[in-house]
Parts: sequence; structure tokens; C-alpha cells
Amino acid sequence: MVREIYISKISREEIINNLLVGGREQKELHERASVIRDENVSRNVYFRGLIEFSNICKNDCYYCGIRKSNDKPERYSMSKEEILRAVKFCDRAGYGSIVLQSGERNDVGFINFVAEIVKEIKEKFPAMGMTLCVGEQNKATYRRFFEAGAHRYLLRIETSNEEHYKKLHPKEMNFKDRIKCLENLKDMGFQLGTGVMIGSPFQTIENLVDDLFFFKEMDVDMVGMGPFISHQHTPLKGGDETKNFNLSLNMIAYLRILMPDINIAATTALQALHPRGRELGLEAGANVIMPLVTPKKYRENYQLYDNKPCIEESSDECLVCITERIKSVGLKPKFGEKGDSLHYFRRVKNGCAD
Ligand code: SAH
Repeated sequence: MVREIYISKISREEIINNLLVGGREQKELHERASVIRDENVSRNVYFRGLIEFSNICKNDCYYCGIRKSNDKPERYSMSKEEILRAVKFCDRAGYGSIVLQSGERNDVGFINFVAEIVKEIKEKFPAMGMTLCVGEQNKATYRRFFEAGAHRYLLRIETSNEEHYKKLHPKEMNFKDRIKCLENLKDMGFQLGTGVMIGSPFQTIENLVDDLFFFKEMDVDMVGMGPFISHQHTPLKGGDETKNFNLSLNMIAYLRILMPDINIAATTALQALHPRGRELGLEAGANVIMPLVTPKKYRENYQLYDNKPCIEESSDECLVCITERIKSVGLKPKFGEKGDSLHYFRRVKNGCAD
């Protein structure tokens, strides 16, 4: 019920006019979103241990630090044993879910590896929630991943505007293909996550508001979106990203108002722009946090953007630090629970899963 009331109160115009608010108005916006979060998905914050298992990528996105043309990072792929060790850490730490993320590859070796490791994790840690974030794949591959035991998939659309998409990606990458992937993932039964970069070059405020309504129309279950931060070894280097921080917080708040029962992540990139970035993301309406559990030796080679935080920390340090951060804003770190998207169950129950 709460949901209908809030949805009817918010219009595209209202968001356009307020997306850049600061000061007292911003505080009120975040409080409004927090109340909606509390009423719909509680004050629990769920963990997703993030395992960046490979930085090898066939794509050349103009913004991304691990794009194939960047020869600076040392390319790596974690072994199955290393991945299982990281999952074991998550299990012990009480993180209810993991995210397996990597650069994008479509070769058989990679697909087999992902399907096998998902299956092995599922067998060894049956209670662990598992999200994949390994880019665009064909339907058969998505089905294989689902059957192996992954039940959530995160594929950011990056921008919901096709013309804008073209400016951020080389011509080999196609907006319509990405949309098709999102639809296929949903058909397959995954809990569907997407997201955008906030403040990316050429983006307008209208684009961002369209992004919010895109999430709503796609009826997604989870969103991970964060500020665009340029990377020095990419074509989109330079630029001033400070304004992207408040804009990102306000995007989180409006998304919570628009979609009260989805899972929204307070992403790591927020913390690259502000020392309390993730806490402020939670205060603006997010309910999920993704502590890094990538082994320390690989972290410096998985830098999607400059000044990525937590590169010098170990997984143990991240656990302590992030727990304190959640408590500091009066929210409840929820250990030992998957924290599935409530929206997903409602969507499926209402017969809208396809
Ligand atoms: N290959 C996977 C994972 C991509 S990396 C896939 O295609 O889904 C995860 C996310 O990092 C991207 O979706 C993008 O939104 C974000 N990212 C990349 N470069 C960034 C930058 N310079 N600033 C902020 N976010 C960035």
C-alpha cells in the first residue's frame, strides 16, 4: 500500500527540478527516502562480498580502466581455489551473498570456468546468495549459469539513452543487444539488477531521470549505480567529478521513492569521492553494501576508475570497517542472511516474472 501512495506523489518534473538539490532540501529528500526504505525493506543492510575474479576483457568501453586497450594493468584470472577461499571468507564473515564480477569474455573456456565455479560454490555453500556480473552472454549461456546455481545477475545498462550509449562505447557494442540481455536474464528467472554511471560525459539531468524511469519500466529487482569517476588511462580521462557525488546520493533517494521494495547498493565508487560515501549512500535510501573480498594482490589491477578505495586493505579489514560504517548511521548490519530482493518475489507472485 505504501508503495502506491509514494509512487503517485512523484513526477518526472519533480525529479528534474530537484535532482541537484543540496543543503537542507537534500537532507529532507534523503530522510523521505530513508523512511520509505525502512517501511518497505527494513533497516537491515545486507552484504555482498565482491570477488573481482578476472580483469581480462574483450571490450573497449571508453570510460573503463580495464578496457582491453589499456596495457597498464597486469591481467589476471583467479584460480578456482582462490575463488573458493574468498567465498569461504564470506561464509565465515557472515556475508549472506557474493558477487562474482569480471571483465567480459565469451569464449568457451571462460563460460565453462564460470559455470563450473558457480556449481562448485553452490555445492559447497548452498545457503550463499550468488550474483553474477560477467557481462553480455547469449541465452544458452545465461541458462547454463542459472542452472549451475546463480540466481541473480547484474548487468548495468550504463545509460538508458541509446545516443548517449553510443558516445561511451565503441561501435562493436550495441545498446539494443544489452537491452535484449536484460530481457533474457529476466525471462530466465534471475533476480535482475542493472544500473548506470552517474555524471558520465555527455549525460544530461533528463537522461538521469529517464534512467530512473527505465529501471521502473524494466521492473528490475536491484540497482547498483554510482558516480562516474574518470580513469587516467582511458579516452574519457580528466574532468571534474565532485558534483557527481551529491547527484549520486540524490539518484539513490529518488530511486528508493520510485521503487520502494528493491535492493539498492551503496556502491564503492561513492567512497572514492567522499570518505563517508557509502554511509551517506545508506542514509539516502540504499540497503545493500558490497565489501571487497578480492585478494589484496589483485586489487590494484582491478581499477575501473582512479582513486578506488580499499585497495590497500585486506578482506578482514574491510569487514570490520564496513560494519562500523553501517552502525555509524544507525542501520543494522545483517549477517547470515541472503537478503534477496523483496521486489523479485512480488513480481514473480504477480505473474510478471516473464
Ligand atoms: N564486465 C562486466 C562488469 C563490468 S565492471 C559487465 O559488463 O557487466 C562493473 C561496472 O563498473 C560497469 O558496469 C560500470 O558501470 C562501472 N565502471 C566502469 N568504469 C567506470 C568509471 N570510470 N567510473 C565509474 N564506474 C565505472
